[in-house]
Amino acid sequence: MTARPWTATVLTLFPDMFPGPLAHSIAGKALERGLWAVEARDIRAHATDRHQSVDDTPFGGGAGMVMRPDVVDAAVAASADAPGPLVYLTPRGRPFDQALAAEWAAGPGVRFLCGRYEGVDQRVLDKRRPVEVSLGDFVLSGGEPAALVMLDACVRLLPGVMGAAQSLAEESFENGLLEYPHYTRPAEWEGRDVPEPLLSGHHARIDAWRRAQAEEATRTRRPDLWSRYAAARDEVNMARNEGAAR
Ligand code: SAM
Repeated sequence: MTARPWTATVLTLFPDMFPGPLAHSIAGKALERGLWAVEARDIRAHATDRHQSVDDTPFGGGAGMVMRPDVVDAAVAASADAPGPLVYLTPRGRPFDQALAAEWAAGPGVRFLCGRYEGVDQRVLDKRRPVEVSLGDFVLSGGEPAALVMLDACVRLLPGVMGAAQSLAEESFENGLLEYPHYTRPAEWEGRDVPEPLLSGHHARIDAWRRAQAEEATRTRRPDLWSRYAAARDEVNMARNEGAAR
């Protein structure tokens, strides 16, 4: 029996949105090779009335509709066979980041619950206690685009998906920094030269230049990341100095 590949199970009102863009390029090739699998399950299949309704008006009034707890709960219950944590996509969740992508990629898969309208009735969240995750501080019209983005980030971390492991190790966020800038041929283009250290063939100089560029980009573009990185770096240096003084 072959091992089950890393599997994304998506509970959605729009199953045709999957795999969508993930059928192309790196994720698409990996999907064809069986390195991961995606199964979109229609929440509407769990509707019980003759109109197949999945939503209703909000108690307390207000605009929009709310996804019914009984229908969503039945969809979640029917997905109990699927591997990985249950994740509800919502702007109220913890922000998605590279560390969470790595955590999910290291497991057997992930189960996404995609909201539509104003979202799902709070009682089903209280009962099922999914991990609530946001793609960012903006409002999408549904959880599906967020699931696609998060899946892309996970799939490229799966073993065998990317060519050179090196290209993953040096990427933005892997070491708490944004990545350094890249250059390719021609060495001079429209009067702009490639930075000299990159042409030197001297690995230590290239590494030092890239590290300095990564630090500068992080410091100027993302002060939030920079202060975390600088604090961690200072702690390591202090521990080193204390060790040397002993
Ligand atoms: N009324 C909700 C609010 O203000 O927080 C927004 C509902 S939104 C129109 C419909 C669905 O899209 C949500 O239930 C959620 O599943 C998804 N969604 C919207 N923005 C998202 C985000 N930033 N991250 C993850 N999912 C999001």
